[in-house]
Amino acid sequence: MPDIESRICAAVGQVNDPNLGCSFADAKRAIQVTSSKGQWSVNIVLGYPVGDQREGLIAAIAAAIAEAGVSEPVAIQLTPGIAAHAVQRGVERVPGISNIIAVASAKGGVGKSTVAVNLAIALARDGARVGLLDADIYGPSQPLMLGLQGERPSSDDGKMIEPLRAHGVAAMSIGFLVDNEQPMIWRGPMVTSALQQLLNQTRWGELDYLIVDLPPGTGDLQLTLAQKVAVAGAIIVTTPQDVALADARKGYRMFEKVGVPVLGIVENMSGYTCANCGHHEDIFGSRGGAEMAQKYQLPLLGQVPIDPRIGRLLDAGQPGVASEPASAHARAFVDIARRAAAHLSLRPIDRGRLFGKVVVEKG
Ligand code: ADP
Repeated sequence: MPDIESRICAAVGQVNDPNLGCSFADAKRAIQVTSSKGQWSVNIVLGYPVGDQREGLIAAIAAAIAEAGVSEPVAIQLTPGIAAHAVQRGVERVPGISNIIAVASAKGGVGKSTVAVNLAIALARDGARVGLLDADIYGPSQPLMLGLQGERPSSDDGKMIEPLRAHGVAAMSIGFLVDNEQPMIWRGPMVTSALQQLLNQTRWGELDYLIVDLPPGTGDLQLTLAQKVAVAGAIIVTTPQDVALADARKGYRMFEKVGVPVLGIVENMSGYTCANCGHHEDIFGSRGGAEMAQKYQLPLLGQVPIDPRIGRLLDAGQPGVASEPASAHARAFVDIARRAAAHLSLRPIDRGRLFGKVVVEKG
C-alpha cells in the first residue's frame, strides 16, 4: 500500500480543473503534501485565480482524498500562484507587468472592447491585480465603458501618468488624454508610438495581467504592435458569421507569425433568445467560432449570446460583470476570463523574469 503522501498526491492529481477540462496531473499542477505534528496538508498551485469556484474545488479535492481511503484529516489549500509567462523572443517586457494579454478582432463591432473590459473586471474580482490598456487609438471606447468619460489622469513628475481606476481595474486610454470630439487622424508610426507611450509611461505598479484592447484589423499596425509589445497570449473575438470568421482566421495567422500564442476564441453575439417569448434566433449564424476553434485546435473560451443588457450596462459605465455579477451574461464573461487565465497558466514560465537580468562583468 503506498504511503499517505503518495495517496493524497495521486488522489488530488485526478481532480478535474473545471476551467481546463483536464486533471490537475495532466495540467502539471504543483501539488505539495506536507505533514506537521500529525496534521496533513495539501497545497495546489493553480497558476490563476478561481474566485467563487474555490469552495466547489476544495469539496471535490476532499472527496477524492476520502475516496482514496485516506482517513486522516487533510487541510486543503489552493494558491493562485500567477507566474510571468514566456513572451516573443527579443521583446522587452514592461517592468512590473507579469502578463500582457491582447484582445483582438480582425473586424470592428464584434464586441472586442466588450469582452476586454468584462474580462479585466472578472479577473480583478477573482483577486488578480489587473490593468486595462485601451489600444484602440482611433476609437477608444473604454472611458465610456468604465464610467470614466471626461476624467483626466494626473502626473506628478510630468513623465509618468497615473492610471485611472474603475471596478478594481487600473485603466489607461488615449481617450483620457485627448478631446473625444476630435477625430484621430494619425498615421501608423504615430499610432504605434502613442501606444508604446501609453504602455510604458503609465505607472501601472505590479500587475498580474494587463489586458490590451487592440484596434480591430490585422494590418501593418497590428503586426508592428504584436512584434513590439511583450505579449504572453492573445484572445480572438469573433461573431459566428462567415465574414467575421474569415477575418478572425487572419488574426490567428498574424499572431502565429510573430510567435504570440492564441489562448482561445471567444464567439460573441452567438444567438438571441427573446426575454418575453423564449424564441431563439441565431442572428449571426451559429457555431462559427466553435468550428474555427476546432479547426485550429484552439480552446473555445466561451460563447456570449446577444443580450441588450450587455450594451446598456456598458453605455452606463457599469459593465455587467461588476454591476450584475449573478446574471447569465456576466457569468459567461467570468467563465471566459477563468478559462483564458487557465490556458495562459499552461504556457512556459518566463525564467528570465524570475532570475532577473544576467550581467557579465569583466575582471
Ligand atoms: P468592438 O470593440 O469589436 O468594435 P464593441 O465591444 O465596441 O465592439 O461592441 C460593439 C457594440 O455591440 C457595443 O455597442 C456593445 O455594447 C454591443 N455588444 C457587444 N457584445 C454584445 C452582446 N453579446 N450582446 C449585445 N450587445 C453587444
